Amino acid sequence: MPYESNFDEIYNFVAQKFEGENEYLQAVREVLHDIIPIYNANESYKRDDIVRRLCFPERVIYFTVSWMNSSGDIEVNQGWRVQHNSAMGPYKGGLRFHPTVNLSVLKFLAFEQCFKNALTGLPMGGGKGGADFNPKGRSDRDIMLFCQAFMRELQRHIGANTDVPAGDINVGAREIGYLYGEYRRLNNKFEGVLTGKGLEFGGSYVRTEATGFGLIYFLDAVCKQHNTDIEGKNIVVSGAGNVALHAALKATQKGAKVISLSNSRGTLYKQDGFDEPAIKFAIAEHAKSNNILTDLADKGIGDWKKGKTPWHLTCDIALPCATQNELDKDDALTLVNNGCNMVLEGANMPCTDEAQDVFKDKALVYVPGKASNAGGVALSGLEMSQNAMFSQRNADTLDEQLQNIMLSIHERCVEEGKDTANNYIDYMKGANIAAFRRLADAIVAQGV
Ligand code: GLU
Repeated sequence: MPYESNFDEIYNFVAQKFEGENEYLQAVREVLHDIIPIYNANESYKRDDIVRRLCFPERVIYFTVSWMNSSGDIEVNQGWRVQHNSAMGPYKGGLRFHPTVNLSVLKFLAFEQCFKNALTGLPMGGGKGGADFNPKGRSDRDIMLFCQAFMRELQRHIGANTDVPAGDINVGAREIGYLYGEYRRLNNKFEGVLTGKGLEFGGSYVRTEATGFGLIYFLDAVCKQHNTDIEGKNIVVSGAGNVALHAALKATQKGAKVISLSNSRGTLYKQDGFDEPAIKFAIAEHAKSNNILTDLADKGIGDWKKGKTPWHLTCDIALPCATQNELDKDDALTLVNNGCNMVLEGANMPCTDEAQDVFKDKALVYVPGKASNAGGVALSGLEMSQNAMFSQRNADTLDEQLQNIMLSIHERCVEEGKDTANNYIDYMKGANIAAFRRLADAIVAQGV
């Protein structure tokens, strides 16, 4: 079957079923472009209709979270868990609490998660969940009450060998603690049903740092591949959460200059780069603060640029670490014109399709989040194995394992994405194909 019609046929089928789910269709398109030729060249993949099956979540769970807040008022939120694919292991992926959460967003995240998890080489399927709850400005008590109500619904669908959620945007150590406590009370079981737990109750060292640190380990590998070094580079980071701050810390420790952090309200710019104490302060305080970046500015650290994104800043490397579709075509053109030559995603799908086209067109190094931010879920996989053995490995061992996993993901991307004729590595293609082969082989082996 000719390539084009095959792509159109499958994509149109999915697009008709999921009309209006823009983020989901965007994620599917990005993957289909690269994997269709592999699919077409493999008889058993075609026989088993692997691509179409991969474009449909195995299960989507919806529930209403009705809860009483600390003032005694009733609130109503929507909750979901998308269990996309379990061929490689228990569904695995985070929970996001954010007013923008909807089914399309969670479906795209669950879909991406399957590919990301496949790249780690660990036995994990893919899923994602969350709620349209906005935790900003809420009391600790309200957060706890919401987490408990959310878990009362979610608990019947998850389990250490079934589905293992973790954190994502606005779900960090505190929320995981409350969620886990409610699960344990309801089920009378101490099991590795969530990752990102506290160190005192089955959590793993290095889990908190893993996504941001992993991103920089990947960047290290990219630099080596391109005969350069992270030291002395100007790096623009967006975001001010767990991923952004740990990426900023590791990059700074490796001698790079991180000149920005940002949130939905603006950008904090520091021309000579943030120093380690400033970043460590932000790491310690960000969960409690209403705006950690203006807190830093108030301490005389950096210039606060209200309402601005960081993409206009001159840099060598850009690390979008905030959220989906935060970097568009104009931002991409501005970055390129200002001399940026590498973009590695710390967030999930932060670059729009058009922005990616700009990077490809200008032959920039561009690495999709499913490869470069896989460190978080990789450490979650290691937390699961520690839970299964009722053991706890030390931080150095886990950090080394994280580095090895990021290196091996990089290698796989290069193997599958190398365009020798043009001396270019298409990391998106490499990541999609490497993950797809693993996923597809697991599905074929298990029959229809
Ligand atoms: N939310 C993270 C991600 O996007 C981590 C998921 C996990 O640890 O399960 O990969």
